[in-house]
Amino acid sequence: MYNRAGSRSEIIGGPLDRKRINDALDKHLEKSSPSTSRALNSKDKDRLSVPTTSTGKSQLDHRDSRSASLSKNKCSDAAEESETDSEESDVSGSDGDDTSWISWFCNLRGNEFFCEVDDEYIQDDFNLCGLSSQVPYYDYALDLILDVESSHGDMFTEEQNELVESAAEMLYGLIHVRYVLTSKGMSAMLEKYKNYDFGRCPRVYCCGQPCLPVGQSDIPRSSTVKIYCPKCEDIYYPRSKYQGNIDGAYFGTTFPHLFLMTYGNLRPQKAAQSYVPRVFGFKIHKT
Ligand SMILES: [Zn+2]
Repeated sequence: MYNRAGSRSEIIGGPLDRKRINDALDKHLEKSSPSTSRALNSKDKDRLSVPTTSTGKSQLDHRDSRSASLSKNKCSDAAEESETDSEESDVSGSDGDDTSWISWFCNLRGNEFFCEVDDEYIQDDFNLCGLSSQVPYYDYALDLILDVESSHGDMFTEEQNELVESAAEMLYGLIHVRYVLTSKGMSAMLEKYKNYDFGRCPRVYCCGQPCLPVGQSDIPRSSTVKIYCPKCEDIYYPRSKYQGNIDGAYFGTTFPHLFLMTYGNLRPQKAAQSYVPRVFGFKIHKT
């Protein structure tokens, strides 16, 4: 059984650690499918890694003392969380043993855009068609997502376990982008939209219009997630830097548009007002 607190600290672990895992995952991906990793330029690659936090070091220390009790880990994790929590979003630190991997993952800071994918959807092989060739350690990653007890834990090295956890994150993202286009997935995202989970448009004349997540590409690791405003029909960076590190391919290029076609009543009126620059009250001449 996975140590929940342990795997959590790995996913949001320190920058060096994270970089090492990503590099290893990239190497793995290059071997299996060269096209996916080549699309990533170095700038976006940096953006995809989790930003530096002051907790990085101590979280690494945690992992070294895995024998420490789960409750102790949880307490100190929660304490660190509040110390560094400068973003508007909070992680509800209620991940007990009975929490599924999916709920735990969706409640991590920065993962607020993800909805919880139904177990049933994941258990249907048809829905996962083609993903096994895209994700390394596919079977182990899938077991982890579905909380299936697996016996590999003992035979894997620490680093392999980290790779499986990163792979699970990627696999969940690639399942998620498909799920949000189904009617169940869309209604899950509707609840989040009504809750303003995706944030509001920063443009003044959009008057706080709620936004939807969107990817600029459907190829993993090519760009980070953005938010789409249905009123001004433009895209923006998410407010939280943690959200800004999530891969856009886990939401895809289609989602917000199919969502607004499905729930046509939610489509707002086009932005009528636009900002006019003035100097001493006079409009600026076009030349
Ligand atoms: Zn807008």
